[in-house]
Amino acid sequence: MTTKYLLPEDQIPRHWYNILADLKTPPAPVLHPGTKKPVGPQDLAPLFPMAIIEQEMSGKREVPIPDEVRNALALWRPSPLFRATRLEQAIGTRSHIYYKYEGVSPSGSHKPNTAVAQAYYNKKEGVRRLATETGAGQWGSSLAFAGQLFGLEVTVYMVRISYEQKPYRRSMMKTWGAEVFPSPTDKTNAGRSILAKDPRSNGSLGIAISEAVEDAATHDDTKYSLGSVLNHVCMHQTVIGLEAQQQMKLAGEYPDVVIACHGGGSNFSGIALPFARDKINGKQVRLLAAEPTSCPSLTKGKYTFDYGDTVGMTPIVKMHTLGHDFMPPGIHAGGLRYHGAAPLVSKLLDEGLIEAVAYGQRGCFEAAVTFARSEGVIPAPESSHAIKAAIEEARKADAEGRTRVILFNLSGHGHFDMAAYDQYLAGKLEDFEYPSEAVEKSMKNLPQVQL
Ligand SMILES: *Cc1c(COP(=O)(O)O)cnc(C)c1O
Repeated sequence: MTTKYLLPEDQIPRHWYNILADLKTPPAPVLHPGTKKPVGPQDLAPLFPMAIIEQEMSGKREVPIPDEVRNALALWRPSPLFRATRLEQAIGTRSHIYYKYEGVSPSGSHKPNTAVAQAYYNKKEGVRRLATETGAGQWGSSLAFAGQLFGLEVTVYMVRISYEQKPYRRSMMKTWGAEVFPSPTDKTNAGRSILAKDPRSNGSLGIAISEAVEDAATHDDTKYSLGSVLNHVCMHQTVIGLEAQQQMKLAGEYPDVVIACHGGGSNFSGIALPFARDKINGKQVRLLAAEPTSCPSLTKGKYTFDYGDTVGMTPIVKMHTLGHDFMPPGIHAGGLRYHGAAPLVSKLLDEGLIEAVAYGQRGCFEAAVTFARSEGVIPAPESSHAIKAAIEEARKADAEGRTRVILFNLSGHGHFDMAAYDQYLAGKLEDFEYPSEAVEKSMKNLPQVQL
């Protein structure tokens, strides 16, 4: 039996798939944080190059991938699709489990798929420097790498607790030539306002976003770059699903269920949206997003208008949110810490086109270790949520006496997350259910929006 399905380089997709073209109803407007009125391209121009702004709002179904971007993608794409026969044996299932492996990229995750596209468009429009935030460092390192490929400087605001706890991702960013600051910093008004309240703040993704956005908005030669959540990011990631569709054809199967972990929604969108297109066109396929119980934006968040950051500087979008003042619990080891979800994913969930499930971290690490001991790859803690969901889907199928074809996205490897594995193996990880009352409380602080 074939272990991995490989595509030649000339089958790197030539177009991204834009699901905005196939939605039944138009997406909710994006609102200005000050006026609370719908934003136009000019409002976003201080933050993004025009090509990206157009993609964010485009209704075009297939957007051509520029040759320069395809050439950069060719450094690691097409990525392999594996049949997980050893995992199937380890858990004793009759279901067929496949995984698309995005850990083959230089930074070890799916994030460079959008980083190279964003760096290309910024360079083309004369931008000199990109400012961004990073949590555990995957996005910062991916953008540092992409900036280096296309000749851009990169400034990264890294959540302080991760800056201190994950020194090697910081080293990667510096190796790829980026400057990295622990956030909150005293370099921005946003950072200073947080430090005034709490000089020892651990930081959060929302705070770091505020800082990077302010940096871009206050420097003419600098733009902002985001690694997840936005429509154009979800679209850039569709190379994952488009390749996987070809590879599943080589395997002679079509998935009953497509699974990915969910933080901001980009790797889930990447693998799921091309299959969502099939589903809209009448195919039977389930699309399942797996998130942590400690940061459950899809399963416990409200579908409403909220800020993208903590301080309220970014546009207001309609999404599943835990509230922009959400602080992830300190015991949570598995990444996926953002308070909201991609507006696109949120809308698909609201329309019933996709499903979401939440798992505690211990079960996810258990699944990750089972995977590492059978398939070899040590998964990123984020990706372990997808593995857990895939194993649960296989078990349910077995209980029903059925054989299911399961495809999941292995969004990255965990080589820089071994401290989390150490904690798990030492029995020190606890599960945590983010309380609904905390969500209710945060809902009182939502921006007041009248439409
Ligand atoms: C960043 C990251 C995620 C979460 O981000 P999404 O936008 O939800 O995909 C998942 N897996 C890995 C390996 C990551 O680096």
